[in-house]
Amino acid sequence: MTAYADFYRRSLDDRNAFWAEQAKLIEWHHTPNSICDESRPPFTRWFADGTTNLCHNAVDRHLKQRADQPALIYVSTETGAERTYTFRQLHTEVQQAAAVLRGLGVKKGDRVLIYMPMIAEAAFAMLACARIGAIHSVVFGGFASLSLASRIEDAAPKVVISADAGSRAGKVLAYKPLLDEAIRLSKHKPEAVLLVDRGLAGMERSTGRDHDWAELMQRQRDAKVECEWLASTDVSYTIYTSGTTGQPKGVQRDVGGYAVALAASMKHIFLAQPGETYFSTSDIGWVVGHSYIVYGPLIAGMATIMYEGLPIRPDAGIWWSLVEKYKVTAMFSAPTAVRVLKKQDPAFLKKYDLSSLKALFLAGEPLDEPTARWISDGLGVPIIDNYWQTESGWPILSLVNGVQAQTSKFGSPGLPVYGYDVKLVHENTGEELTEPGQKGVVVIEGPTPPGFMQTVWGDDERYVKTYWETVPGRMVYSTFDWGIRDKDGYYYILGRTDDVINVAGHRLGTREIEESISSHPNVAEVAVVGVADALKGQVAMAFVVPRDASLIADDRAKLKLEGDIMKVVDDQLGAVARPARVRFVSLLPKTRSGKLLRRAIQAVCEGRDAGDLTTIEDPSALQQIRDAVAR
Ligand code: AMP
Repeated sequence: MTAYADFYRRSLDDRNAFWAEQAKLIEWHHTPNSICDESRPPFTRWFADGTTNLCHNAVDRHLKQRADQPALIYVSTETGAERTYTFRQLHTEVQQAAAVLRGLGVKKGDRVLIYMPMIAEAAFAMLACARIGAIHSVVFGGFASLSLASRIEDAAPKVVISADAGSRAGKVLAYKPLLDEAIRLSKHKPEAVLLVDRGLAGMERSTGRDHDWAELMQRQRDAKVECEWLASTDVSYTIYTSGTTGQPKGVQRDVGGYAVALAASMKHIFLAQPGETYFSTSDIGWVVGHSYIVYGPLIAGMATIMYEGLPIRPDAGIWWSLVEKYKVTAMFSAPTAVRVLKKQDPAFLKKYDLSSLKALFLAGEPLDEPTARWISDGLGVPIIDNYWQTESGWPILSLVNGVQAQTSKFGSPGLPVYGYDVKLVHENTGEELTEPGQKGVVVIEGPTPPGFMQTVWGDDERYVKTYWETVPGRMVYSTFDWGIRDKDGYYYILGRTDDVINVAGHRLGTREIEESISSHPNVAEVAVVGVADALKGQVAMAFVVPRDASLIADDRAKLKLEGDIMKVVDDQLGAVARPARVRFVSLLPKTRSGKLLRRAIQAVCEGRDAGDLTTIEDPSALQQIRDAVAR
């Protein structure tokens, strides 16, 4: 057996001993005796009698050895800000922020919603929550008021932390009006709103509710706030993600299991050493930002770069200049970003000294072979694709090179990662598929490993129903991804089995987009599907049946309505969810029982065969889609 095969086997067959060993990678206040409690499947409790704290492991723990080494490196090519915080300085900022939150009445278990651009204060806020046992819920800054409102309502935060604005490509995006509107729409009202004023956009303040971050931080400049020792199974955060239904789910994560999972992944997968520098180009609003901008690198004693800006501004060399300047050893990005760079002058890849870089990790969407090859040749470092989800919190499939150097195969995110009992099953029978090349649903057999979601926030039943009861005859966790495995055990991911689409690595629910579009008064019916796109992986395409059917023959009116519909989506959900095109038809293809034939629509859009159409109510509906696409 190879070293990795043995490591992997032990993680499943000798689970308690394996994870007790990994648990030593973090500091505990009370070392756990209980390792994996699987007495109530599918809920798994990790290190249940242990107590620890994420902030302690990310910050305080390193003060002994590396207080004056860089911890957080903040770079914004939007505002020109660039600042390095040492572990000591980070410790000070986080204690201040924790004191500010306490001052606003935040206690252990209270929720704090963070709706912020990529600024250092966002990381301080997250770590401050972790420090006092408040549950943070970071909402991606690109989401607009309706998306934000549903999250505020579900998380019911005591405090919301936000800022005047974000900035993208030099364009200021005001956050405060979106936040005010979201609070107005939400049934739950936060007691306090804490606002970082970047001086980018003016802010109207609501007296009594709104507070100024800088002012309150200043008042707490000498604050000392000790870490709360939390049960390993206490909740550290929730992060919302899209699924089949319109309502986003709050993925809930624990404290101790997450800390151990991240510490182990930093060592075994991301080849991390304390004192090195990690650069993840994601956003704190996504799970990658939680795990591999904020917590993972800091827990590993590394400096982490937090970057606000585009990969091609001021030019396509910006990321590589940061690699050179800060001697980045590991970088994490998404295939879409690489495809954006691929359109630029390849000379930028050779302009800087990249000798510090050990590997580039890519995740979030399928990595196509030409893109992988282009960046691999350009950088001359290993490209490591890894597959996971918001739900898992850390890689499910990857190459675990820290245990044993593995051969990479372009197009595949690799092998099951230790701790994950990954299988392929038949979608209708639930039967396990063991032959190479068989296509099935990627599932995970319980118990789920440390770091994996605990449940859906406030809704255990939804967790079980959504994830564990979809495969007939078996209680397994469904990833909702299609996959195949080759003879060497390498997996290939073939796309989602549900109505989730992946646009530039951003996960979006087509149902959410449909609900938003339906709110336009001239929309009678709508179908949104994901269509393959050379740059973004997928884009959303909307097909609308207008209330006023005469519009279909009027090109000018159609163009106007298309623009209006896009604006509705921009205002409600955010530009990330805006469909690439809105097309108009008089009828949508449905089954005789009234179910929308999304897969058939998608196939037609991608120029593929529409598949089995025996149940279609009116074949002319699909012809209309064909005609609309051809036009
Ligand atoms: P998210 O929860 O936003 O991280 O999105 C998770 C989904 O993104 C997965 O269920 C996959 O559909 C897709 N995904 C993530 N990483 C990869 C990858 N390396 N290769 C293919 N698909 C991926």
